[in-house]
Amino acid sequence: MSSVVERQKRFSGQTAGQRREVPFYVPDIGEAEIAAVVETLRSGWITIGPRTQEFEKCFASFVGASYAVATSSCTAALHLALDGVGIQPGDEVITSTLTFTATAATILHAGGKPVLADVTPDTLNLDPVDVARKVSSRTRALVPVHYAGHPAPMDELFEIAQAHSLVVIEDAAHALPASYKGRRVGTLGDLTAFSFYATKNLCTGEGGMLTTNHEELVDTLRTRRLHGMSRDAWRRYSNEGQWRYDVLYPGFKYNMTDLNAALGLVQLRRLPQLHERRRELVQRYFELLGDVEEIQLPQVRREVEHAWHLFVVRLRLEMLRVHRDRVMEELREAGVGTQVHFIPLHMHSYYRDTYGFRPDEFPFASDAAERIISLPLFTRMSDEDVVYVCEQVRRIVRAHRR
Ligand SMILES: *Cc1c(COP(=O)(O)O)cnc(C)c1O
Repeated sequence: MSSVVERQKRFSGQTAGQRREVPFYVPDIGEAEIAAVVETLRSGWITIGPRTQEFEKCFASFVGASYAVATSSCTAALHLALDGVGIQPGDEVITSTLTFTATAATILHAGGKPVLADVTPDTLNLDPVDVARKVSSRTRALVPVHYAGHPAPMDELFEIAQAHSLVVIEDAAHALPASYKGRRVGTLGDLTAFSFYATKNLCTGEGGMLTTNHEELVDTLRTRRLHGMSRDAWRRYSNEGQWRYDVLYPGFKYNMTDLNAALGLVQLRRLPQLHERRRELVQRYFELLGDVEEIQLPQVRREVEHAWHLFVVRLRLEMLRVHRDRVMEELREAGVGTQVHFIPLHMHSYYRDTYGFRPDEFPFASDAAERIISLPLFTRMSDEDVVYVCEQVRRIVRAHRR
């Protein structure tokens, strides 16, 4: 196995026309990020501290939220949010079946019961009609997932939430920066969880952020993020002499470190350019794949600004003699890395066996699950890389036409 850096070197030297290696993802870490981390290491303050505080301030101001609480991951942020709003045993929380396991696992960790709903066939986001069907007297919260970076239909979901007094916690792991009807994701629901995992649009290696406009929740979130110790417990190692603390709650170890925050601050400054590059690459994909009848390109609703975390195409299997997995395998043989986002939760052993889900309860997600392929999309991709990926997709699906 070659390292990411070796692979990066190899494909930056590639020229047009030849076989290429286009991995599914390579993080975009530059000298400025490296310098910021080194400077933090030299500062002597390496875990939660001044850089985390600054990252929270800058992030909140970037999305336009009143408060931001930095965490060790989006999974931690989701759990902290569900715990913070008081999800109790017996409470039901509705989320999309087409998501990463963390979205539902954190509902279980908070003591709730995940209730899965289907998606709409255009954007593969939570279907408000199915959500309304799944609301019961025990439903306490909704967790929409902004799939691939396309915001979920929030107006319809808020209408249901309001009618039944549900808390809305968004899984925005894919949705930075994204907007819905001119409003940034991060300011829409009660709480929004972002991911800074290695492959996400803003990357700190591991990391997450929770944004909210609810002032009354912020102290609770900050306290529970760090062991449930009285506010600003991390300061006890500073020179301020505040060694005494009190435990207010059996909290979590979910804080961000200043090393991650230093990386995040640089990435946040670069985010507008990184987003612009993603949009250019997506534009190329649309131009180059527009006439390939065997695949369906992503659909974008007029009222959104898409974060383009993923470029998910769907195979028109009725036109092909092979299954999706074979197409992915041939792309891999051609040097192109792809992924599936996601195998729906109702198809995984744990959720299927625990709740007895059947694929026909989620017709659109079950159908999409067989067709979806996420193509490479990362800011270090060259235009020639996109051309190569599209040539290979076209060649492979044509070869397997019915
Ligand atoms: C990546 C991801 C998460 C988890 O993010 P982490 O920061 O790795 O915890 C949650 N939900 C979705 C939809 C994701 O893609």
